[in-house]
Amino acid sequence: MLKSALLNAVEAQRENVVQHRRHLHLHPEPSFGESKTSAYVANALRAMGIAFSDGWCADHGAAGIVAKVEGLEPGTRTMALRADMDALPIQEVNRPHASTVPGWMHACGHDAHTACLLGAVEALQAARDQWTGTVHCVFQPGEENLPGGASILVQEGALLTDAPTSGPLQASGPLVDGIVGQHVYPQLDAGTVGFRSGAYMAAADELRIRVVGKGGHAALPHRTVDPIVAAAHVITALQTVVSRSCDPTQPSVLTIGKIRGGHARNVIPDEVILDGTLRTYDLATAETLRSSIKRVAESTAQAFGAVAEVDLAIGYPPVINAPRLTDSCRKRAVELLGEQHVVDLPLRMTGEDFSFYQREVEGCFYRLGTGGNGPGCRSGLHTAEFDIDERALSTGTAMMAWLAATEV
Ligand SMILES: [Zn+2]
Ligand SMILES: [Zn+2]
Repeated sequence: MLKSALLNAVEAQRENVVQHRRHLHLHPEPSFGESKTSAYVANALRAMGIAFSDGWCADHGAAGIVAKVEGLEPGTRTMALRADMDALPIQEVNRPHASTVPGWMHACGHDAHTACLLGAVEALQAARDQWTGTVHCVFQPGEENLPGGASILVQEGALLTDAPTSGPLQASGPLVDGIVGQHVYPQLDAGTVGFRSGAYMAAADELRIRVVGKGGHAALPHRTVDPIVAAAHVITALQTVVSRSCDPTQPSVLTIGKIRGGHARNVIPDEVILDGTLRTYDLATAETLRSSIKRVAESTAQAFGAVAEVDLAIGYPPVINAPRLTDSCRKRAVELLGEQHVVDLPLRMTGEDFSFYQREVEGCFYRLGTGGNGPGCRSGLHTAEFDIDERALSTGTAMMAWLAATEV
């Protein structure tokens, strides 16, 4: 029986997956610089005798991998599984298994995603006479930074059914039937997974505002145009963008997360840089807010004699989970884990480049509970304390293999 064959295979290599994850955790790499991670994945696939192609995203200095696992009647159906591989510029707290790379850390759990996908490849291979079709396993670079590794992989043809052994194609042809991705989630206990059908995660634009004035002596402000005061008013005025320009029924967020300006207590600087993010779900709302931000920032700075230069980089589209595939994956999750270990999730304003795959084919992006009682196992993603309850790795491995083998 497929389920028990996969579960046995997952159990047999439980320690392997833990070791994969620990190795990757020790050696985090930046977005589009995952060369050692990619070489590690390639070696593991070679050891399993799995066909794959590398060199994806090479024009961006990265090394994505697409592997192919074949069951009975290869090609009759093709599901894709995705894991991201990049880490973040965060100094991890001191503890066993902490990152060995100063200032870099797998604080978003992409090490766990990669380890689980390697485990799923092995489980699918071990049970290959019990399922039909082909599974594409996408090891993706650069999730955390624009333009998003997923957007490049899509352009290069990673979703084409003939992609895995031929490498970047940049051609057209039949696409995979669907794609499934998972993401660690400390708010859910290890052993549990969460789903949301339809809109799930927001579109994320990157915002930079340069407020330019004229610097000088702090005691002679009348001879300057103070960009600090102008920037403070710009930030305050921007708080009205969402509250006054946006349809209140449309979820959206505007946050300025970084201010840079000045270097001394008694000097008025020439400029202040504000960095922020705009999160939306709806394209028309996004466009309204983008033009509001520009108008409010420029005119507020002007009121103080300064100039605001607004630069908005359009980011990832929203994650919209295909209802048919997602409902079906949720049912499969219940079959695998039991009703009590499958929950429904609320909408969130974080973003994910998995959305680029979902614009091409049906996609389901679900959450893997990694919460536990160990240190850091309840800390948020992108924090220096973040850690996972490693028991989640078996759940993540089994889920990916099970969904790939059963879903179309
Ligand atoms: Zn992240
Ligand atoms: Zn992430």
